[in-house]
Amino acid sequence: MSTQPELLIDKAYIAGQWRDGERRFAVTDPATGERLAEVPDLTGEQAREAVSAADEAWPAWRRKTAKERAALLRGWFDRIMDHQEALARLMTLEQGKPLAESRGEVAYGAAFVEYYAEEAKRVAGETLPGHGADKRILVFREPIGVVAAITPWNFPLAMITRKCAPALAAGCTVVIKPAEATPLTALALAKLAEEAGFPAGVINVVTASRPAEIGEVLTTDPRVRKISFTGSTPVGKKLLAQCAGTVKKASMELGGNAPFIVFDDADLDAAVEGAVASKYRNSGQTCVCTNRLLVQAGVYDAFLEKLAARVAELQVGNGLEEGVLQGPLINAAAVDKVQSHIADALDKGGRLVCGGAPHALGGTFFQPTIIADVTDAMRVAREETFGPLAPVFRFDTEDEAIAMANATEFGLAAYFYARDYRRIWHVMEGLEYGMVAVNEGILSTELAPFGGVKESGLGREGSRHGLDEYTELKYVCVGGL
Ligand code: NAD
Repeated sequence: MSTQPELLIDKAYIAGQWRDGERRFAVTDPATGERLAEVPDLTGEQAREAVSAADEAWPAWRRKTAKERAALLRGWFDRIMDHQEALARLMTLEQGKPLAESRGEVAYGAAFVEYYAEEAKRVAGETLPGHGADKRILVFREPIGVVAAITPWNFPLAMITRKCAPALAAGCTVVIKPAEATPLTALALAKLAEEAGFPAGVINVVTASRPAEIGEVLTTDPRVRKISFTGSTPVGKKLLAQCAGTVKKASMELGGNAPFIVFDDADLDAAVEGAVASKYRNSGQTCVCTNRLLVQAGVYDAFLEKLAARVAELQVGNGLEEGVLQGPLINAAAVDKVQSHIADALDKGGRLVCGGAPHALGGTFFQPTIIADVTDAMRVAREETFGPLAPVFRFDTEDEAIAMANATEFGLAAYFYARDYRRIWHVMEGLEYGMVAVNEGILSTELAPFGGVKESGLGREGSRHGLDEYTELKYVCVGGL
């Protein structure tokens, strides 16, 4: 890089110290392949030091008043928003998403810090009627302890604040293990937290290129009481199994296979806008992004035509450039996966409507793609593509659409467009998903409980339910009264 981006920090953060490792690994810009920085490649032993730091900081942190913790969170929120532009640039540099999306993610991620700064003051227990005249029942809501947060590269900022803000608000301390592709946003966040005045050890960031070694420590050290993971389903299952030995609590935000259903009574223009936002945002690399478009036979051709016209307008390029709506994919493996899904679908009778190949810009840029006449024999029916491919299935009846939508082991987000109110209720209730968007293409907000059912995960993030994930109930029976 010719000039160092603002807030670029190349040290890990443990016990309030900016730390180096014996080895370092490179962070690169997926748009240019350029090396942005090298960060410490920490070992399992150093991860254990981070756990010790969090464990030592915990007693004092939990004893702070809720109001004190709230003030620190509020200070962190203010600093994040004061540095919205610098954080957004850093995120686009290491992750590739268009700058406008990065700015949006900073605001979205910061909103969790703001929300839980407020909610910290409302962690309430209860008193219940006693089971004898001389007894009383008290229920305390207490912080769970040291929390390990393992996060993915597709939302380098928001996946961290979504976990850490409620954990810190509840009185827990945290060890963050960011994705190896995007550690810089995590380190910048830690810097802003330090400036906001969080005590040493309350927030720790362990950067590493060998995640399994760090994961082993975080899931087996008995001092870690909770794992909060966002990432792929296979890694989530592995971590859950590792947690069994010390019976840790776990929240898992895992993969999805979101259906986006368009019924024949839908507002087609609105449905196209929703589909484009849900499918191509972040180059299709979001866990809630549409993986399968299911369109009713009566509007199939009309919808496809409008969608193709809209997708043709999507400008692909370096996310730092004005007007770009689709950046590069994160790496070559991501491109391979998209290409293999396209080849499989075309082999089995799919019809290419647009795109279908790497973009002329080279690198990991890929053309926004639509394939029609898709069937459930194709891989796209079952697997998360995680790229800019919209496979369009056809259905005839409402019940068929619900059955197709539910025919997956995943259950994170589902979308549908319809106008008939009876249909809206029927479909809303029939979808086996943690989140359902009706006549909407984007549903994430700090105000709502985000999470999945089936193999998409355990637990919720956001809203007051997100705070409960970081607390334990303690029942106290007071007798002899
Ligand atoms: P990933 O599972 O490969 O990695 C996620 C995190 O786990 C990274 O920090 C990685 O370093 C770490 N990791 C990998 N192997 C590990 C191990 N053995 N032990 C400990 N940590 C390990 O996922 P990804 O490719 O970074 O992210 C994409 C996936 O995340 C997609 O499946 C997507 O659907 C999912 N995702 C889900 C949500 C959600 O809220 N449900 C949000 C964003 C992404």
